Amino acid sequence: MKTRRRPYTEQRPQDLGGGVWSVPVPIPGNPLGYTLVYAVESPQGPVLVDAGWNHPEAWEALSGGLATLGMDVASVRGVVVTHFHPDHAGLAGQVREASGAWIAMHEDDAALVRLMIGYAGDAQDTFRSDMLRRAGADPDEAREASGGRAAPPAQPDRELRDGDLVDLPGRRLRAVHTPGHTPGHICLHLEDADRLFTGDHVLPGITPHVGIYPYDRDDVDPLGDFLRSLDRVAGFGPLDALPAHEWTFPNVAARAAEIRDHHEDKLQRLRALLAERPEPLTIWEVAAMMTWNRPWDELSPMLRGMAAGEAAAHLRTLEVQGHVRRHAGVEPVRFQALDS
Ligand SMILES: [Zn+2]
Repeated sequence: MKTRRRPYTEQRPQDLGGGVWSVPVPIPGNPLGYTLVYAVESPQGPVLVDAGWNHPEAWEALSGGLATLGMDVASVRGVVVTHFHPDHAGLAGQVREASGAWIAMHEDDAALVRLMIGYAGDAQDTFRSDMLRRAGADPDEAREASGGRAAPPAQPDRELRDGDLVDLPGRRLRAVHTPGHTPGHICLHLEDADRLFTGDHVLPGITPHVGIYPYDRDDVDPLGDFLRSLDRVAGFGPLDALPAHEWTFPNVAARAAEIRDHHEDKLQRLRALLAERPEPLTIWEVAAMMTWNRPWDELSPMLRGMAAGEAAAHLRTLEVQGHVRRHAGVEPVRFQALDS
């Protein structure tokens, strides 16, 4: 797909009308470039949707961008984050320190933040290398793929559930639970201006990462959740979408349907691949067979880890749909087509 994405340096804070502004906040060193932080006006100070990556340059862009639009970061009433990832929740803590704002997120992501805060570095490395071994990664690769994580985000003060109204006096901003990219990802429906903040759930040019961690979990189905969440958003009809990356776009329903088709295709192609290789395969072997944006051999250890997470999520969905069988109780865990 041809991209309309422009580099961060060409982004400017914008008045989107209806008391909604966007402020691009850079993600230093990341090809995604920037997070679009939105400010929604209220008589008691703006509420931010997401906050951006925790970095001095990002803070400069956020506080400076708000100032350009006539808002003082110290007047921010609250920060509602679409999900716990560092390019969204990273700066929320610093905004809270500067303004006394509350931080809100969905209860399922809040639970993950508590887990991350309570998790020491060594325990996290052990978790990761165990997970890679059980997926069939070779031991050297398992070692290389560990390390290099962002600090956990600030603990939220408020937890949201599906259908809750965000504390935004005089306006109606409602949480729509859209699990998939994370278990507690939310979109936010600004009902008084009929627009949808889509976070990373629906982006105009790319699709969000949907993985399963640890890879061999069989009690969740993130990709199945994601597809249902796309249907849910498609049900909103042709609303304008305000995503957390890239650019704002019309007709969220059409884009949600397109992303759904992309994953249905990917599931079909994976079924075909498994049918050609009838022996039981590890998650790592399956990931290496699938098509990524670069050849498998050129993926960094971190990107291979993410690709394996995506492969695992697709395998799990095919298992739930009855197309794939898991050989559990062996290590590494293996998968095999059921109906080849
Ligand atoms: Zn993001």
